[in-house]
Amino acid sequence: MENIITQSIQTRNPYELKLGKEEKISELISKSMENIVIIGSGCAGLTAAIYAARASLNPLLICGPSPGGLITTTGVVENFPGFPKGVEGFDLVTQMQAQAERFGARVEFGNVEAVDLSLKPFEVKLEGGKTIKAASVIVATGASHRHLGLESETQLEKKGVTYCATCDGALPVFRNQPLVVVGGGDSACEEALHLTHFGSVVYLIHRRDTLRASSIMADRVLNNPKIKPVWDSVVTEILDVAQNKVTGVKLKNVKTGAVSELSCAGVFIAIGHIPNTKLFEGQLEMDEAGYILRKNGTTATSIPGVFVAGDCTDSRYRQAITAAGLGCQAALDAGRWMGENC
Ligand code: NAP
Repeated sequence: MENIITQSIQTRNPYELKLGKEEKISELISKSMENIVIIGSGCAGLTAAIYAARASLNPLLICGPSPGGLITTTGVVENFPGFPKGVEGFDLVTQMQAQAERFGARVEFGNVEAVDLSLKPFEVKLEGGKTIKAASVIVATGASHRHLGLESETQLEKKGVTYCATCDGALPVFRNQPLVVVGGGDSACEEALHLTHFGSVVYLIHRRDTLRASSIMADRVLNNPKIKPVWDSVVTEILDVAQNKVTGVKLKNVKTGAVSELSCAGVFIAIGHIPNTKLFEGQLEMDEAGYILRKNGTTATSIPGVFVAGDCTDSRYRQAITAAGLGCQAALDAGRWMGENC
């Protein structure tokens, strides 16, 4: 394996050609240290893996708790270039993984329990006790669904409260029943449209009176006769914990203060995301919301040798294509950094 890698480095890796680092990478491998560990298997991590593998950097990608990332929980992705008829989120990441593996990326299923970025080499600890040493790390841990923060929400999760219409919308319990979607962004609109195939009516509860969603999604929602927007309203409680199932929601109008109840069999919460960056708290610089900061328009973080890509660093765009773009940049930055420092 060492020979193959060294050989391909000599022919294909511009950083190695320039700096003649093939012996050093061989040394790293002989010390059981990885060149690049990519944490996360969404569009960002998988694109980083494709680029790092094609640069003969022999990356190891750790999948994490949700292989494929959040995009696997959406239905058809209509805006990823190259798929004029759309592509299922799951199919998109499956193809990305096959592409990365074709060029030699290794994919390991496992959860990262802790990282120590103060050490050289860096240490990545997996659940179960395995520790991986890495010359460089690409953080691509994505983001998770934001919760309303209600006690009843937690108590009724998976008993009618869900964060994924694509995953759960077709369940028998929701068929021909009134359903509630909370949120006003593209995700909420997508969820509401999907649920029109199953529910008798879909109430879209939004805390303002205009949707945040893109106009194409907003138009589809507002023109769908099965979707009833409920403006200026927040959910204050999900009913009914005593019955251990969803029977309705309590609402408050934020403008008038009026309180009301709405019967429904399911509550689909789509109010945005929070970055999955707890592992890196106290180690990497982050903004107030927990997004990892990038330096000087690159994917470099506050620790040299650690790079970041995707929804865990991007609070603004959060698209599959922008995550993939950052994944590409992170692999190029990591390869350059290794060429100069390893
Ligand atoms: P988002 O754009 O941040 O929208 C979150 C929505 O939830 C907002 O309407 C927000 O209200 C509301 N909200 C937030 N916290 C709330 C709370 N505690 N209680 C009640 N409502 C709350 O998130 P997103 O819809 O998940 O979209 C994220 C990104 O992915 C966006 O860039 C979006 O364009 C993209 N996306 C694209 C597609 C697509 O192209 N097919 C599909 C899904 C998502 P306010 O409006 O008042 O802030």
